[in-house]
Amino acid sequence: MKYCCTRNAAERVSAAQAIAQGISADGGLFVPESLPRYTHEDLMELSLCPYTERAARIMADFLPEFSREELLECANAAYAPEKFSGGSPAPLSLEQKGSLNMYVLELWHGPTCAFKDMALQMLPHLLTRSLKKTGIDKTAVILVATSGDTGKAALEGFRDVDGTKILVFYPENGVSAMQKRQMQVQEGGNVAVCAIEGNFDDAQTGVKRIFTDPAVKERLAARGMMFSSANSINWGRLLPQIVYYFSAYCDLIRTGEIDYPGEKINVVVPTGNFGNILAAYYAREMGLPVNRLVCASNENNVLTDFLRTGVYDRNRPFHATISPSMDILVSSNLERLLYHLTDGDSARVAGWMRSLGETGRYEVDPQTLAKLRELFWAGWCGDKETKQTIHEMYRTENYLCDTHTAVAVNVYGQYAAGTGDSATPTVVVSTASPYKFAASVLEAVAGEVSSSDEFSRVEELSALTGAPVPQPILALRDKAVRFTQSCPKEQMAGTVLSLLE
Ligand SMILES: *Cc1c(COP(=O)(O)O)cnc(C)c1O
Repeated sequence: MKYCCTRNAAERVSAAQAIAQGISADGGLFVPESLPRYTHEDLMELSLCPYTERAARIMADFLPEFSREELLECANAAYAPEKFSGGSPAPLSLEQKGSLNMYVLELWHGPTCAFKDMALQMLPHLLTRSLKKTGIDKTAVILVATSGDTGKAALEGFRDVDGTKILVFYPENGVSAMQKRQMQVQEGGNVAVCAIEGNFDDAQTGVKRIFTDPAVKERLAARGMMFSSANSINWGRLLPQIVYYFSAYCDLIRTGEIDYPGEKINVVVPTGNFGNILAAYYAREMGLPVNRLVCASNENNVLTDFLRTGVYDRNRPFHATISPSMDILVSSNLERLLYHLTDGDSARVAGWMRSLGETGRYEVDPQTLAKLRELFWAGWCGDKETKQTIHEMYRTENYLCDTHTAVAVNVYGQYAAGTGDSATPTVVVSTASPYKFAASVLEAVAGEVSSSDEFSRVEELSALTGAPVPQPILALRDKAVRFTQSCPKEQMAGTVLSLLE
């Protein structure tokens, strides 16, 4: 299996090259040129295996340069029980909400309590092996600009991984108290964290500039190093996410919830950069019986409009919401979907992306819109509705969900009411622990927040609801702060070089 580029269908690279390189030289993304197919018998077989074997089997179909044994080794390391508490890394929690046939897929049992661990625990293994397989003998320097969850998940994934170093920049006043603490106490011999005096855009712009700065690149090369990215444009981050959709269906088979071969499910995903829901689309194309993919957005509802009208328009106000990991106006992984829906018409896709870059807007043709509308149902809700949903889920179902998951639950309700489909078993993807967003969740459940300290809020929420606090969050309180450095945004390149000394 080879990978092609979304902006130049003639370009072909191997799987290891796609992962080592991350992004194509022309700015396009790598996509598999064909997809493996799974039958109901395959799913029955997978349903008897533990998560790590499901992962090795599915990933092996996409990575011909890796053996299944090698991938099982990677999966065993990535999803080790000391990293993911409580049995399966991606457990399905059964919740029948009123008349709705709903299951919650909890993807936040990893070291940083957000779903990004599912991919960022695996990526370092895939990346370091891909570099070896493509004959690149250099230390990979991972540079990350983060607005919250990605930075911590990348730090945990790459910490003490041989042949890598990781540097994370975050905006000094742009992350939550818990997120800042998570990064400042980061352990590991190959990690560094620096705040910047600026906002997230400044951090992101600074990192992009360093990536392409020839002088910095040269200094790195002289020391046997090269830059690499842990961003969700890398295929090595998307692939591990396909696995948990199969795994959820297998668990439904195993527990007898699937009544007959081929019975379809809906999947509801709280969406930002379109990576997670794109993985669900791939699973559907590979034969997983999926009826509708429901795309849930917050007030930054650019995707809702696009999936309904075919017009993508980022020229709109940016809203800072209580589900910050979904506060995105340019969803980069959408480009991969458009490539597949146009049967690999890379010229058309490149045209849309050019238009997005130049005017902030593009409009797809009627055939592509028809395909989008057949596959996806899209909706959004604001902060007020998000809090109401957290409140209602807790009061009526005794289930505590975070601010991102609540958006998905709310939009699923809208989908069922709008389409009349409340019977299809529906997997709602839960992307973060409620304790990562304790202030908003506490306010939603109790109506007010009395404590000003983040750990007191966690305690208050846990005392009130009885929902267990994840170990990694409890452990943060007693860890020593290691990184308090901050720098002006103009000095980021110098900071990178000095941190690499
Ligand atoms: C990153 C993130 C999302 C959005 O996922 P995408 O793959 O970017 O669509 C949703 N919820 C949480 C908690 C996240 O960290």
